[in-house]
Amino acid sequence: MSNNIVDLRSDTVTQPTPEMRQRMATAVVGDDVFGEDPTIAELESKTAAIFGKEAGLFVPSGTMGNLLAIMVHCNRRGSEAIVGDLSHTFLYEQGGASFIAGVQLATIRNQPDGTFSLAELRQKIRQYEDCHEPVTSLIVVENTQNICGGKVMPLAFLDEVVALVRESGVGTARIGLHMDGARVFNAAAALDVSVERITRGFDSVSVCLSKGLSAPVGSVLVGSKDFIKEAHRLRKALGGGMRQAGILAAGGLVALQQVVPLIKKDHERTLRIAEAIDKLHSPNVTVDLPTVATNILLIQIKQPKLTASQLANRLAVIEPEELTAGITGPNGAGIVLKASSRNWEFMRLVLYHQVNDDQVEMAIKKISYVIKQYDARWP
Ligand SMILES: *Cc1c(COP(=O)(O)O)cnc(C)c1O
Repeated sequence: MSNNIVDLRSDTVTQPTPEMRQRMATAVVGDDVFGEDPTIAELESKTAAIFGKEAGLFVPSGTMGNLLAIMVHCNRRGSEAIVGDLSHTFLYEQGGASFIAGVQLATIRNQPDGTFSLAELRQKIRQYEDCHEPVTSLIVVENTQNICGGKVMPLAFLDEVVALVRESGVGTARIGLHMDGARVFNAAAALDVSVERITRGFDSVSVCLSKGLSAPVGSVLVGSKDFIKEAHRLRKALGGGMRQAGILAAGGLVALQQVVPLIKKDHERTLRIAEAIDKLHSPNVTVDLPTVATNILLIQIKQPKLTASQLANRLAVIEPEELTAGITGPNGAGIVLKASSRNWEFMRLVLYHQVNDDQVEMAIKKISYVIKQYDARWP
């Protein structure tokens, strides 16, 4: 009997659904560099329509989508883009903005809810024709905010950012607004609004198909026709001109149709795990229940002798006593719970399309048992 593995490290570990595999197998494809792949064209135009933008561009990754946005918006030398200090663009894209695009990133502090202060933004936007200074050319907002725990940007906050940025800038130089919407469909599901409403004032949006949406590969960048025309040109230089990639785009089309309507389920299941941990009232391991909003759950370690990676390592091990204590799945075998930890204080669980109710129950059983073990040691 094999152990039950519940893999909640990331929503990137998803598998394509059977419907995706079917549609991928039969996708009509062509050379997309010649503009001849109808499946990619369909994905691009459908995504653009969903976001209320003029055009879309299929790219291999969210990292490339964000980089292209930076390159197009910051096309003047000496440009600066303002990003959150806990943003993916700043932390996890290798500084590509600087070493590939030649753009300086300035950071603005992400608050615990993932937003930033509008006063700080106003201060950071360079408003003077001063030859000493770089030119503020772009503001990037991440939604949902990953590191802060899948936080949803409130619509009022987004509207204020849009208004502030639109009234800023030197002379006729326009400042671009890009949303890193890797998980923007999660934000929409949490707020019960359309992604179009969320991204309305933004010039461009990059959305991941290969995270919670479960497609195997790719992101789509959307924006105006002119913006996408330039991004299309630059994508080739980055090595992102793909040929018969309609096979991949087919997975994305199914994701939009089949998986997007089910995202709320992931949020409900995430909340269920959070509630179970909250109920333990552990002095050692806690969650901030009222702030759990989407498919990401941050678990905070309060015990100074315990680190997040120690907790994650413990959850991945089955101790013999667990089996006699009934910490098992429906098949009677033990439970391995995989989680991720990036610093000592927070462990992260991420849910996605393939995580079902059985797996949620197993995750709750396992983590509750382990937390109680710690509570017995450190009451
Ligand atoms: C994953 C992610 C990206 C980048 O996506 P890749 O496809 O892994 O390059 C960008 N932004 C956020 C917030 C992400 O979570």
